[in-house]
Amino acid sequence: MRQWDLDKVDKWVDEVALLPIAKFYPSAVAKDVGLPVQEVFIKLQELVNQKKLICIWEVRCPECLVTINELTSLDLSKASICYLCGDEIITSPEIVFPAFKINPQYKAYIKESAKKKHPGEPKKIFGAYSRNRKLYHCHS
Ligand SMILES: [Zn+2]
Repeated sequence: MRQWDLDKVDKWVDEVALLPIAKFYPSAVAKDVGLPVQEVFIKLQELVNQKKLICIWEVRCPECLVTINELTSLDLSKASICYLCGDEIITSPEIVFPAFKINPQYKAYIKESAKKKHPGEPKKIFGAYSRNRKLYHCHS
């Protein structure tokens, strides 16, 4: 793998920041950019350190396989109740899955930058204005 291959992850994150996606999994990013999930996961952790992303841990019931809790830190002492089977589930590494969210502040920043890249349509307005003026001129 080349050093700059992981830049694709930055681009992926910036694109997703403009979409209404609540959270995503490292496997989805790895599949999209075509890189090993282990490398992508390390890169995503870097983006967490840069405050672009927030890492969350999904706790899934080992019986029902549904997500029963979302932890912002990997606290293995916490227990969750499964809303399907009612069991008390002790958090353990086997039933915890990492997911990522775009930091809302970074999302706002990316949206703002995207607006600056494609500023409104002042040219069209100007075009319509000058065309009307011409018509006005002809009629008078
Ligand atoms: Zn359950």
